[in-house]
Amino acid sequence: MRFARCRDTAQIPSSGKSVAIIGAGPAGLGAAGELICRGHKVVVYDMLPEPGGLLIFGIPEFRIPKDRIKVGIKELMDIGVEFKCGVKVGKDISLDKLIESYDAVLIATGTWRANRLNIPGEDLPGVYDALYYIINTHLIQYGYKPFNEAPDLYGKVAVIGGGLTAIDACYIAFDRGAEEVTLLYRRTREQAPAGVKEFNNLESELGVKIRELTQPLRFLGNGGHVTGIEVIKMKLGKPDASGRPRPEPIPGSEEVIKIDNVLVAAGLVATPPLDADKCGIELTRWNTIKTDEKHRTSREGVFAAGDVKHGASLIGPALKSGKDAAIYIDEYLKSGKWLYDEKEVVNV
Ligand SMILES: Cc1cc2nc3c(=O)[nH]c(=O)nc-3n(C[C@H](O)[C@H](O)[C@H](O)COP(=O)(O)OP(=O)(O)OC[C@H]3O[C@@H](n4cnc5c(N)ncnc54)[C@H](O)[C@@H]3O)c2cc1C
Repeated sequence: MRFARCRDTAQIPSSGKSVAIIGAGPAGLGAAGELICRGHKVVVYDMLPEPGGLLIFGIPEFRIPKDRIKVGIKELMDIGVEFKCGVKVGKDISLDKLIESYDAVLIATGTWRANRLNIPGEDLPGVYDALYYIINTHLIQYGYKPFNEAPDLYGKVAVIGGGLTAIDACYIAFDRGAEEVTLLYRRTREQAPAGVKEFNNLESELGVKIRELTQPLRFLGNGGHVTGIEVIKMKLGKPDASGRPRPEPIPGSEEVIKIDNVLVAAGLVATPPLDADKCGIELTRWNTIKTDEKHRTSREGVFAAGDVKHGASLIGPALKSGKDAAIYIDEYLKSGKWLYDEKEVVNV
């Protein structure tokens, strides 16, 4: 996968300007490729031990061969993009310091917090956040220290959710020791963000049992470890804010499913650097970063792109968002004009 459109920067005159990019996922990498080819110095910060974001540490190898991503990253390094990995902005270095040290900053930190179900028993041993279970599995596989423990699974595993994280969690669950996997989803596969095909593949390729229109009510534990889930059957009602039929519980349809481990994948939340609001960067009610149509935030010189700007999406939109932001950063660096207008904010 190529992130830069130039193969050599030797002939490109230097602008004398520098840009810090926070986040080395597709949005950050796409922006880095565009900015270096426009003559700017580019430094990319990432909290993970190597660049790539979810391309390397989230999406499984069978979907996206890592070698191709690594070739694209190496090309960026060869043409002068500098990577500072293992650095969490907002913890190891302040966002304010970066804003002071560079001519422009791009925030491309993605959606690294999982929604909670907020039901009893969610913190029982054996109930894992699927996103971090997947990331930790990849960190361990590549010889790095995981963020937290991700022990092997066993017996019957339930995966909860209907997005790509839930689908990939089913594959990972088998890799990590599950004997049987059941996917619980509160709507039907026709309304699932992952799409019907992914659900069908789980059934036909992996033998995953799929229980649609099923909502967990509480996790049950015996001696501490999760042993079961109380669920309720749902029916589809009138459309909700998302335009999809709203799932409604059917009273009296509660039952207990016996389970040994659970992976929860109930949606992802945008994660700007922790000190973003202290730096005058306004957030939307979904925790995404407010921007105008040119990716400008409410703080002069700071731009945002990718999933942290528009919410959890896909590789293509994130990459395009990073490249678009780079064009506006270039425009700002060359003109010195900052015309952010609160009334022009596009993602509130
Ligand atoms: C399990 C899973 C499977 C998926 N499968 C697919 C798929 O098959 N096809 C598809 O198109 N999309 C898929 N997606 C979605 C896709 O991966 C994302 O939409 C895309 O990666 C978003 O790109 P991004 O650059 O905005 O963010 P990310 O790829 O999340 O990159 C953000 C980067 O910022 C870094 N970061 C975060 N906070 C900080 C901080 N404070 N300081 C320093 N660094 C920080 C992170 O370490 C990360 O490297 C999947 C997502 C998941 C979770």
